[in-house]
Amino acid sequence: MAFERPDIIRPPSEHASYYLPLTSGCSNNSCTFCNFSFTNLGMRDLADVKREIDAMSLFMHSRMWLPGVDPIVYAILQQWDGRRVFLQDGDALVYPYPKLMEALQYLNVKFPALERIASYATPQDILRRSVDELKALKDQKLGILYMGVESGDDEVLRKIKKNVTHDQMVEAARKVKASGILLSATVILGLGGVAGSERHVTETARILTEMDPDYAGALTLTLVPGTELYKDVERGAFELITPFDSLRELKGLVENASFTNCFFSSMHASNYFAIRGTLPQDKEKILRQLNTLLARKDPRLLRPEYMRGL
Ligand code: SF4
Repeated sequence: MAFERPDIIRPPSEHASYYLPLTSGCSNNSCTFCNFSFTNLGMRDLADVKREIDAMSLFMHSRMWLPGVDPIVYAILQQWDGRRVFLQDGDALVYPYPKLMEALQYLNVKFPALERIASYATPQDILRRSVDELKALKDQKLGILYMGVESGDDEVLRKIKKNVTHDQMVEAARKVKASGILLSATVILGLGGVAGSERHVTETARILTEMDPDYAGALTLTLVPGTELYKDVERGAFELITPFDSLRELKGLVENASFTNCFFSSMHASNYFAIRGTLPQDKEKILRQLNTLLARKDPRLLRPEYMRGL
């Protein structure tokens, strides 16, 4: 089947990157809340990837276009500063290791001044690689991996069909850190619903402490029509927490997780309120902000529902 170029879905911090697809969909396409669920994983031919890198190089060095290349390539290149590349899609680290290595080497040959390459990765993708393999990818400028942790609670992980446990995610994080690649972890407020909220917060704070990522981001659960979780909510099997309870969960994470040095934020568009800071230094400042919001309970201080996004 022909490889279909995926839509651009990327972490906020990759807004200035070139988006280079190696895969489409996600290898763990089962998570009950995710818009990647039940889309098959697609692998792009390495020759096709290299041709796109050739097109990138030709355009950036001499403003020439290669015939037959998707116009989106040039739309992205017009905005690109040549510094960073983000590998698409949902877990590009699943791309077979020798091919991934070759793609990164080729990028480095064509763009020797490239600063950083980034990718989403499932914990399973990371566990499949040895620390030496990850180090070799780092030598090719793979500088950061974005891992969706979602929750530290094994019960929530089982219910959302994440297919990985708390302990396996901690092991994956330790491998990334041992390789010297930066680790960014995201968790999802509200994923335990009303019934599982307390345990979701406690266990998620625990996993963040154990993983000790360089970056941690909190998202807020946003229902995607057609997903299993959406149907669970419709039939009353899952009760969503309120916006202010999502802030209470956020406060619980900031209060209970311990980090060595982590940029922690809730700036993603799904959140009702954005906080940001470096932990532990900014812990008290962030908690003061959240305490004020929770005391006032003024909905006008929250991002309106219609402005929330995935
Ligand atoms: S692993 Fe991530 S991208 Fe893949 S289905 Fe689950 S939440 Fe979605």
